[in-house]
Amino acid sequence: MTINVDKLRQAVQGEFLLNEPMAKHTSFQIGGPADVLILPSGEKDVAAVQAFARSEGIRLTVLGNGTNVLVRDKGIRGIVLKLGNSLQDFQQEEENLLFGSGYSLIKAAKRAGELGLTGMEFAAGIPGSMGGAVYMNAGAYDGEMSKIVAKVWVMDTCGQVQVLNRDQMEFGYRHTVLQNSGKVVLRVQLELARGEQEAILAKMDDFNQRRASKQPLEMPSAGSTFKRPPGLFAGTLIDQCGLKGYTVGGAQVSLKHAGFVVNNGQATAEDVLQVIAGVQARVLALKGVHLYPEVLILGEE
Ligand code: FAD
Repeated sequence: MTINVDKLRQAVQGEFLLNEPMAKHTSFQIGGPADVLILPSGEKDVAAVQAFARSEGIRLTVLGNGTNVLVRDKGIRGIVLKLGNSLQDFQQEEENLLFGSGYSLIKAAKRAGELGLTGMEFAAGIPGSMGGAVYMNAGAYDGEMSKIVAKVWVMDTCGQVQVLNRDQMEFGYRHTVLQNSGKVVLRVQLELARGEQEAILAKMDDFNQRRASKQPLEMPSAGSTFKRPPGLFAGTLIDQCGLKGYTVGGAQVSLKHAGFVVNNGQATAEDVLQVIAGVQARVLALKGVHLYPEVLILGEE
């Protein structure tokens, strides 16, 4: 399906990029071109892009900061709407903070800490956007988004805005009702609690130091490659199978943390997919455990 770029340009005010390499927009630094990538200027643009995609029958892919995705080498057909760093609203009402979906989770956590609000310490090192974190129910250490989300404003594929409360989100381990729904997160209200600013910021520092000592933050990746199997750790299983350093092309099971596949510089998505498949086969054969990717695989096969 060809995209009527002129018509789309008239409807949207934000930045427009044609045949844009997704490697520039993902933390893995991997991925072929998106036909059209839009960096919206605000919620109006989100509505305009949704309406255009619906009326023209064009596939729409929504991204936050691109830190939990692997985009295939052929890229993404249709429109990619990248919300990370746009939709930056912020409002405070006592212990409730409202963030636009493009707001950086790391910055949001720091802001909450500086305001003396506790509950977001776990998020201080998660490089996603607010929208992506809600969509994935991101979590670490002693917390996850499900514990702090009060309300989520979403736009459905018909352009209607709905407000979902915590119970309607169906939070589970890296799961929410939003997944594969076509709904775009616009805004998120978090319910935090009063705490000691110094203690909150110290806890964030501690988590970040632990992260830096254990995780390969110096290499491009999409975080943990696999979901945690119930009662087990993917990284430990992979390590026990002798797979640290397992390499295909430019993709490698990190030598620092076996739960991460890293891009050694020139990795293709195909390299990463082969590492994933190799790890899955070996862990299944030696441990009897099927590992499922946490990283979302997007784009044309
Ligand atoms: P993206 O990767 O851009 O998108 C992920 C999914 O969310 C996609 O399906 C996308 O369509 C959807 N999405 C994004 N924004 C919206 C929106 N506004 N509306 C609707 N759908 C949307 N994750 C953890 O849970 N815990 C960790 O400790 C953690 N550590 C990480 C460390 C590193 C070094 C890296 C690179 C990643 C880590 N991650 C971790 C993974 C990732 O940061 C989180 O999953 C994060 O929440 C993804 O947010 P994002 O904005 O980058 O989403």
